[in-house]
Amino acid sequence: MKSFEYFKPKTLEDASRILLSEPGSEVISGSTDLLGEMKEGIAEPSILISLSDIPNLRRIIWDGDGLTIGAMVTLADIVAHPEIRSRCLALAESAESVATPQIRNVGTLGGNLCQRPRCWYYRSSRFDCAKKGGDKCFAVGGLDRYHAVIGGAGCYIVHPSDTATALVALGASAKIFGAGSERTVPIADFFAGPDVDVTRENILRSGELLISVNIPPSALNHPSSYLKAKERQSMDFALTSAAVLLKVSDGVIFGAGVSLGGVAPVPWHLVSVETALIGIPIKSIEPKIITSSLLKEAEPMSANGYKIQLSKSYLNRAILKAVSRA
Ligand SMILES: Cc1cc2nc3c(=O)[nH]c(=O)nc-3n(C[C@H](O)[C@H](O)[C@H](O)COP(=O)(O)OP(=O)(O)OC[C@H]3O[C@@H](n4cnc5c(N)ncnc54)[C@H](O)[C@@H]3O)c2cc1C
Ligand code: SF4
Repeated sequence: MKSFEYFKPKTLEDASRILLSEPGSEVISGSTDLLGEMKEGIAEPSILISLSDIPNLRRIIWDGDGLTIGAMVTLADIVAHPEIRSRCLALAESAESVATPQIRNVGTLGGNLCQRPRCWYYRSSRFDCAKKGGDKCFAVGGLDRYHAVIGGAGCYIVHPSDTATALVALGASAKIFGAGSERTVPIADFFAGPDVDVTRENILRSGELLISVNIPPSALNHPSSYLKAKERQSMDFALTSAAVLLKVSDGVIFGAGVSLGGVAPVPWHLVSVETALIGIPIKSIEPKIITSSLLKEAEPMSANGYKIQLSKSYLNRAILKAVSRA
C-alpha cells in the first residue's frame, strides 16, 4: 500500500479546504470500503481526511423536519435505533442487510452511500477499465452476471449501497458541504450514472462531502419494507433488492415510494410503479399486475437476464410485506 498522510480536522471547513487544495486527498469514515481499495491498489490517496473529530456528524435528530441522520452515524446505530425501526422500517432493514455485524459496527451511512462499486474488473488492479480512466468496459463481452440490466452507458456497475435503495423509496434528501456552504439535493439526484461521469457514482464536486440525510415527516410512520436477494445468505451484495413505502389513509394508498437496487448504476427509482399504486385500497392490492411490465426497457447482458424476473418477484414480496404492516 502506498504511504499516505492522515488528518483529523475538527471542522467541516477544514476538511473541505484540505479536500479542495490537495488533489490526492480522500475522505475516510469507517474505512470498510476505502481501505480495501487501498490494499488492492485501486485507490492511492496521498492524504486521508478522517471525519471522526467533526462534531454533529454522529447525530440522529427527530424534529419538525422529520428524521435527520449524520453521515458518521454507523449502520449498527441505525439498525438498533427503536424509533427508526418503528417509524421508518425500510431504512433499518436496508442497513441490517449490509455485510456483517463487524462491518455495520464501523461502517457509516455516509460511507455506505459514497462507497465505490463492486464490479470485479474495477476491483482488480489488472483491469484499467473505463471507470478508472481506461477506454474499455471489460464487462461487455466479459463476465457480466452481477452487472446492470438497465441504465448502463459504457459502464455497467450496479450501485452497491443497500441504504441508497431504501432512501430513494423514502423520498430522502442529502445535505452536502463544500467551500463554506451547504446544499441539499433529493437523494435520487445525489447518485449519478455513467452517462454523467463514468469515473464517479455521485454528484459530489471537488471539496464537497456528504454531511447528513433527511427523511421528511411525510414519509415517516407509514408502512415500508426492504427486501434483498443475495447469492450467499450469510453476507453479500444485492443481486436485486426492493424498497417500498406505502402512504395509507382510510385504507387507501395516497402516496408511494418504490425503488430497486442491484439492477442499475444508480438506485432505480420506479416512478411509474409509485403512480400505479396510488388510489388502490390496500386490501385489494395485486402486486403482480402492478409489476407485470417492470424493467421492460431493460437490456440484459449475456448472463444477467435473471435479474428481471428476480426483481419482479422481490418487488411483489416487498409490496406485500409493506401491506402486511399497514
Ligand atoms: C466484506 C464486505 C461486505 C460488504 N457488504 C455490503 C453490503 O451487503 N451492502 C452494502 O451496502 N455495502 C456493503 N459493503 C460496503 C461498505 O464497506 C459498507 O457498506 C460501509 O457502509 C461503508 O462505510 P464506511 O464508513 O466504512 O466507508 P469508508 O470506507 O470510510 O468510505 C467509503 C467511500 O466513501 C467515501 N466517503 C465516506 N464518507 C463520506 C462522506 N461523508 N462524504 C463523502 N464521501 C465519503 C470515502 O472517500 C470512500 O470513497 C461491504 C463491504 C465489505 C468489506
Ligand atoms: S462495468 Fe464499469 S467498473 Fe466494471 S469493467 Fe465496466 S467500466 Fe469498469
